[in-house]
Amino acid sequence: MSELRHDPIARRWVIVALERATRPEEFTYPKPVPESDEPPCPFCPGQEAGTPPELVALRDNGEANAPGWRVRVIPNKRPVLAIEGRPDRSAVGIYDRMRGIGAHELVIETPEHGLAPHELPVLQFAAALTVSRERIADLKGDERFKHILLTRNYGVGAGARIHHPHQQIIAIPVTPLRMAAQLNAAHQHYMLKER
Ligand SMILES: [Zn+2]
Repeated sequence: MSELRHDPIARRWVIVALERATRPEEFTYPKPVPESDEPPCPFCPGQEAGTPPELVALRDNGEANAPGWRVRVIPNKRPVLAIEGRPDRSAVGIYDRMRGIGAHELVIETPEHGLAPHELPVLQFAAALTVSRERIADLKGDERFKHILLTRNYGVGAGARIHHPHQQIIAIPVTPLRMAAQLNAAHQHYMLKER
């Protein structure tokens, strides 16, 4: 399991994820995968057995973990943070650490492989965002989580390893320093200006 460690100088939390150290491409700029090598990928319809069971899906037909979906949500196969357990904060000398508890979900935006963000039909993108919003609302009910992040990588340069349109939802047990600063600034602005 990964671990969260507090940097007392920079005052921020860092995720140390040993399970993901086997991703050698993190250290070199990855070559783009040729188009012909792509579908079917694990996110394509018909490949559902190759992913963890779906958490939720928007379906026209078919049963769970089978084709017929329009938007599909699955847990990340190699999550940065694990969903089970308590954070179990502990101290080591001047350091603080806690277990890497969190949620790491993938929202597959469309059954169609390889669409660029601007090629996705607006209604399909809206459907994917609606599903993401529902997942975020669900995760908000979990008192262990302090911050929920929605990201959408596109292209190898951004770290997207699978060229099938997808978003990532990450719920973490701490508030990122920059987010806390922004929230404090908004609060202080409101208190001072009353708007
Ligand atoms: Zn695909």
